Amino acid sequence: MSKKILVAGGGHGGIAAAALLSKVGYDVTVFERAEEGKLGYDWTDIFSPRAWAAAGIGMPPQETFEIKEDMTFYSPNLRIPIRQNIPEDELEIKMERTDIYDHLIEHANKHKVKFEYACEVKGPIMAGNRVVGLKTAKGNFYGDLIIDAAGVNSPVRAKLPAACQIESMPAKFEVLYAYRAFYDKPQGVKEDAKYKVFLLPRGEKGVAWVATEGDDYSDLLIGKFEPFGEDEVESLADYLREVNPWLGKNLLRGGQFVQIPIRQPLAVMVCDGYAAIGDSAFMTIPIIGSGIANTFKAAGFLTQTILEDSAEAFSADSLWPYQARYFKEIGAGLAQIACLKNMLFNVTPQELDYCFEEGILTARDLALGSDSINLSALFRMSPTKAKHRLKALKNNPPLFKKVLGLAANMAKVTLITAQMPKRRESFKVAKWSNKYRKFYFDLLREIDM
Ligand SMILES: Cc1cc2nc3c(=O)[nH]c(=O)nc-3n(C[C@H](O)[C@H](O)[C@H](O)COP(=O)(O)OP(=O)(O)OC[C@H]3O[C@@H](n4cnc5c(N)ncnc54)[C@H](O)[C@@H]3O)c2cc1C
Repeated sequence: MSKKILVAGGGHGGIAAAALLSKVGYDVTVFERAEEGKLGYDWTDIFSPRAWAAAGIGMPPQETFEIKEDMTFYSPNLRIPIRQNIPEDELEIKMERTDIYDHLIEHANKHKVKFEYACEVKGPIMAGNRVVGLKTAKGNFYGDLIIDAAGVNSPVRAKLPAACQIESMPAKFEVLYAYRAFYDKPQGVKEDAKYKVFLLPRGEKGVAWVATEGDDYSDLLIGKFEPFGEDEVESLADYLREVNPWLGKNLLRGGQFVQIPIRQPLAVMVCDGYAAIGDSAFMTIPIIGSGIANTFKAAGFLTQTILEDSAEAFSADSLWPYQARYFKEIGAGLAQIACLKNMLFNVTPQELDYCFEEGILTARDLALGSDSINLSALFRMSPTKAKHRLKALKNNPPLFKKVLGLAANMAKVTLITAQMPKRRESFKVAKWSNKYRKFYFDLLREIDM
């Protein structure tokens, strides 16, 4: 197994896949633009602890993580908060991102992954329609397989020729623009809930959260569907401070503007010599943007597919089972959730308030976590609750119409994902991916912003 694998991007997906493949004998190098010791962001992440095992990685040291408490959700009028109720077996952990990286890199080093830090990847090197290497700021590097883990704006994916049939960039409304920062927590102010999530805060399109960490700091996240700047952060943060006086004004950590994919998975994730993983393949959960668990699971699927490629062809054909398994186990469910996300763009603040006040949304519905990979897992409810929900929806015809539209769209996309070709035949894949992409293109056209 002397074949060479190059990984573009040293994020969660890139390192997890690199370690699995190096462990089974491949010569794997990760190309990462950040300097050694400076990966990731200065904040915490929440994800399923079961994800580590999916990537063949042991649990991190006990002192580096804690069980995440349930979140409390607010609609724009803030009147009826709903505290989510995550079942015991779906509880998630919270970890500093730097600790996640330390654990991942220690694991990768143990399995002899090579790292090329401070190395900007510029794009793919092509030989016909096969990806054969990476153009980087430190020169050209060649390999037998290129794994694209360079995130939502990957320059590798973006510069593939059209013949590879891989979408180059996410469309408008498929990316959440987010600002995240930790502020001081003024002394003597006691919070009424630890994790508060504000849907359409101040009646504006988007989401925000204010979370507290003991007496140390308050964590602010603002997410919008279009780029925004410091002025908007300050204005919304001041509004949030009025209702959460424990959110101080002194910036302690973070303070970056970042992007999170919130869309259906990439229609085609592989071509000759190439496989995309993680944010580069849009593997995050479209509504909440959690991507770590799915990317770890995908690293396991990709490694399994590569091991089954006995001729080590790393062709579009031999890599196709990776994409097929991803869609079967995770992607098809995320494609449904993407329909819900698109519908939420069209829900008015008044309609969302109505859902909270009339019990249309419940603590169980809001138990979204990184293991929430389809909608049926969410809407588990007693027949009495279902009857009540239907009655309340019928009393609000415009909202009811949107919910019926959502149900129809989810049924359509379930059918489309089930029709994904079992084998990578170019003509069939082109036909299928056009249908899948057109479906979302049409949904996005309906968005009224
Ligand atoms: C504010 C915020 C909060 C989040 N919170 C959570 C959470 O709580 N739970 C959760 O599960 N997920 C969360 N996510 C999502 C999660 O971070 C991603 O889904 C996950 O990190 C995906 O891993 P990845 O390896 O695909 O991509 P990334 O982690 O984005 O890694 C990509 C890597 O590629 C590198 N890179 C990019 N371009 C180049 C280039 N040209 N050359 C070389 N290197 C390059 C980057 O430096 C980076 O190291 C959050 C994301 C954001 C932005």
